[in-house]
Amino acid sequence: MAVTPTGKFLKDIQFGLHGVFKCLNCSQETPQAMTFQCPSCSGAIELSYPNISNAEFTGTGMNRYKDLLPLGNYIYPDAHSTLQKLVDLPGVFAKNDGDLPTGNTKFRQASIAAPAFWAGGINEIVVASTGNSSNSYCYEAQLHPGHLWVHVFVPKTHQGRIRFLNPYVDLHVTDSDFMETGNTAKAYAKRHNLSTDGGFYNPYRREGLKTAYLEAIEQFVAQNGSSPDYFIQAISSGMGVIAAHSAFRQALQLGWIDRIPAMIVVQQETCAPMVKADRDNRPAISENDIERNPEGLAAAILRGNPTVSYPYVRKVVKTTGGRFVSVSADELRASKATLADQKIRACFAAAATHSAAYQLREELKGKSGVIMITGSKD
Ligand SMILES: [Zn+2]
Repeated sequence: MAVTPTGKFLKDIQFGLHGVFKCLNCSQETPQAMTFQCPSCSGAIELSYPNISNAEFTGTGMNRYKDLLPLGNYIYPDAHSTLQKLVDLPGVFAKNDGDLPTGNTKFRQASIAAPAFWAGGINEIVVASTGNSSNSYCYEAQLHPGHLWVHVFVPKTHQGRIRFLNPYVDLHVTDSDFMETGNTAKAYAKRHNLSTDGGFYNPYRREGLKTAYLEAIEQFVAQNGSSPDYFIQAISSGMGVIAAHSAFRQALQLGWIDRIPAMIVVQQETCAPMVKADRDNRPAISENDIERNPEGLAAAILRGNPTVSYPYVRKVVKTTGGRFVSVSADELRASKATLADQKIRACFAAAATHSAAYQLREELKGKSGVIMITGSKD
C-alpha cells in the first residue's frame, strides 16, 4: 500500500532542556539534533544529563524516568515490566520485557525515537529490520494515526515477523539477505529524500532501551537491598548494551547502586561474530567473523555483521568486567522450557540469557544479577 504524508506531526515536543549529546569516542558535547554521529570524529553519541542530581522520579513506567530522557513537553508511556526471581538458578532475576505492549523491549525504543523524530520535524522514516524494531515503529504509527509514516524494509525470509501493519506502514519485501536489505533501504531513503531511523547510531533508540535497565535496577535494589553484580543481555547489534552502560553510570551517580554491574553478552553459536572476534582478542570484526546468511533459532539476534557496533560493545564488556558467551540450540530449547515452567514466555533470543546464566553458574555462584528477557514472541 502507498502512504501519503500530509506534513502533520506533533509540533509541541521539544528536545529536552537538560540533555546534551556527548560523543562516546572523544567526549565532545553538542546540542541535541537529528544528526547522530559526532561532528568531530564520527563516533556514536549518547545523551548526557549534566543536572542529573536534580532529577525527580515519580509514578511508574517509562515516564518515571522523564528527567533522564531527552524530550520536553511529552508524556512517555507508563508501560513497565516485572522483575521475577528465578527458582532454578539462585540469585538470578528475570526482567520480563516480553510483557510490554509489543511483546518486546523494542517497544521502549520507538517510544522515545518516534517523538524525537517529531521534535526534529520528521514524520516519515525508513527502517530496515528483521522484526522487533520495525514492529515497534509500526505500533507507534498505529498509536498516533497520521503522525508517523513508516517504510519497513524486510527480507522475504523474515516477512512473517512484521506485525502491527496499518495504513501508515508501507512494507517493502526484498529477495535479498538482511545486509543487502539494509543497503536497499538506505538507497530508497536517499532517492526519496527521507530519513532513515539511524539504526545503532540513533541515540534516542538507546535512550528508550535505557529505561529497561533503570527500571530493573530500581526493582532489584527494592527486592534485594543490594546492587546487582551483573546483567546478561542477548545481542545482535548490541545497542542495548550501550544503553545499559548509560543506565549503570546514571544509577551510580544517583546513588541507587554502589558499583557498575558486569555486562555479560550472549549470542547463539550459529551467529556469533562478536564472540568469535573476542575469542581471538580482536578489537574489530573481520571478514571471517561476518555471517552473510545467518541462521539459528533466536531470530531476533540474527545479525551477521555487527562491524559498526562491536568496538563500543567490547569497550562496555571489558570495562565492566563482563564477558562474551555463546550458546547452542539445545541450550536455547532447554532454557525456553525452563522459563516457561516459571510462567515466563521468552523468545529464543531472550532464552539465550538464561542459557548463559546456566553455563556460568559456577562462576556466578554467590553473586546475584539480572537476565534481560527482551521478548516473548519468536
Ligand atoms: Zn567524537
